[in-house]
Amino acid sequence: MIAIIGTGPSAIACARALISRGVKPVFIDVGNQLESEISNQVAEVNKQDPQEWVNGVQNVWTVNNLESRPLFDKKKFGSDFSYRGSEDFLRLDDSRVHLKGSFALGGLSNVWGGAILPYLDEDIADWPISYGDLRPHYESILQWLPLANHRGDDLFSRFFPISHPSSSVISLSKQMRALESSFSRCQDRLASVGIFWGRSRLAVIHSQNDRECQLCNLCLTGCPSDLIYSTRQSLESMVRSGEATYLSGVQVRRIQRKNESIEIHGINLQDMKPVCLKARKVFLGAGALHTTKIVLNSLNAFNQTVTLKDSAYFLIPFLNRKKGDKMEELRSNSLSQFFLEIRNTGVSKNGAHLQVYGASEPLHQEVRRFLPTMPLMKSLGKHLVRRLSVLQGFLHSRDSASLSLSLRGDGERNRLCISKIQNTNSVAIIRRLQWLLLRNSNALGGITLMPFTYYALPGRGFHWGGTFPMRHHPGPLETDILGQFSQLNGLHVIDASIFPSIPSMPIAYSIMANAHRIGSDTALDLNA
Ligand SMILES: Cc1cc2nc3c(=O)[nH]c(=O)nc-3n(C[C@H](O)[C@H](O)[C@H](O)COP(=O)(O)OP(=O)(O)OC[C@H]3O[C@@H](n4cnc5c(N)ncnc54)[C@H](O)[C@@H]3O)c2cc1C
Ligand code: SF4
Repeated sequence: MIAIIGTGPSAIACARALISRGVKPVFIDVGNQLESEISNQVAEVNKQDPQEWVNGVQNVWTVNNLESRPLFDKKKFGSDFSYRGSEDFLRLDDSRVHLKGSFALGGLSNVWGGAILPYLDEDIADWPISYGDLRPHYESILQWLPLANHRGDDLFSRFFPISHPSSSVISLSKQMRALESSFSRCQDRLASVGIFWGRSRLAVIHSQNDRECQLCNLCLTGCPSDLIYSTRQSLESMVRSGEATYLSGVQVRRIQRKNESIEIHGINLQDMKPVCLKARKVFLGAGALHTTKIVLNSLNAFNQTVTLKDSAYFLIPFLNRKKGDKMEELRSNSLSQFFLEIRNTGVSKNGAHLQVYGASEPLHQEVRRFLPTMPLMKSLGKHLVRRLSVLQGFLHSRDSASLSLSLRGDGERNRLCISKIQNTNSVAIIRRLQWLLLRNSNALGGITLMPFTYYALPGRGFHWGGTFPMRHHPGPLETDILGQFSQLNGLHVIDASIFPSIPSMPIAYSIMANAHRIGSDTALDLNA
């Protein structure tokens, strides 16, 4: 058996590489899914006229008594199934961090924002592999990953230098069109201060067969038409076509070499009894956090410290000069609409990445929470949100706090102990970035509301990894460029836990490209 643990982006990309080289993998996964009642109700909503979707989805929440604050705690149709069980598995001992993995079929791609960008050489200068090594895999992935808004001819193609002939463009709201015209009018001025803008490259199915984005603005709470790509979609198609097999309900705890094979030890979640599965090769893509715990346990590396690198995450409210549509008339996609790449050495030599989100009901909800509950304020909130956008920002891990993790034996189960390694530069860099944006308000078409910046706890941006970095000459608790440990032959780690650092750009496309690279290189041996 060739086993892949997980069904998130790393696992699916690795599987695609193996399958295309004639290997049929078995996915081993916990496999939590959206509750069937909710999923049936959403299927009913999808049959309705898209004009009715908002009411339909709100009804699903009311019927199921669900709560949602998507700007801060993103769920799918109000359900937390994507994260369920992770806290109990990790048993972290510090509440001043926000770290959650996933046990879901499709992993965190159930709730992700679909934003994708490759890492370029300047971002991964400290890696033992280059953009040139990843490039064929970025390209391969675009053969099955949907991609919207990729126009190969804009200034931003420097940051996405991979062509894609069939990318369609999602229409912008009035508010976002006003920003776009400011950005394009002042493109040279912005570029001269190191601000590069482009439409957000999104893994969203758009205009395909009879499926098309309905601009219903529900993206942050869940797409009734399932247009935001999730690796669940790929898994279902691989299993349907017989290219792979899926074994769910197994929580993996430990991997061991035994003679010629590798043993995967875990718990069968149906009867809570131990299971042991034998494999020729194991690809571990349980998400960087869960993988860290499984590997430390497998190597008996108790009380040894590894460093989880994080990309600092923050939100800056942005007041647009021009007013957008009334909330009742808003027709837009509510995922990120623009990327801003900041390459200004006065801010940081490592660059920063911003995503622009326009008006949406979740944003309106936060504005209402913030304003006192008076009728006048209600109408002020409606006006305010027509001019409000949010800049979601990320820094490079070198400019961010990191976390040291160690596994402690604790009777029956083990616990991951955490301590935060501060980075005093982070806040200063975010402030310098805000001043840069403020100085260029005219060109940007609005001003940043600096005092209302939200500085998130470490981990909150979900761009983390690096506990077992890839090296040309790996030391203890480091991996080679195929994600292997010298002590555990036959195991390949394929998720972000093997990234030597975490650049500021979206992480999942690079997780996929790297996992695809490892799958491709290893498949040659498997077929030999
Ligand atoms: C709200 C949100 C928005 C995001 N937006 C973006 C974005 O726009 N762009 C971007 O690039 N990234 C985004 N991310 C991050 C992105 O989703 C993750 O980086 C990516 O999903 C990680 O992929 P993975 O395969 O490493 O792990 P995961 O997606 O975490 O998948 C882990 C898989 O392993 C399985 N598993 C875990 N532990 C075990 C175990 N012990 N036994 C068996 N199976 C196990 C799980 O069931 C799951 O299938 C976002 C994340 C969140 C939460
Ligand atoms: S706007 Fe978002 S939720 Fe609505 S159809 Fe388009 S992708 Fe789906």
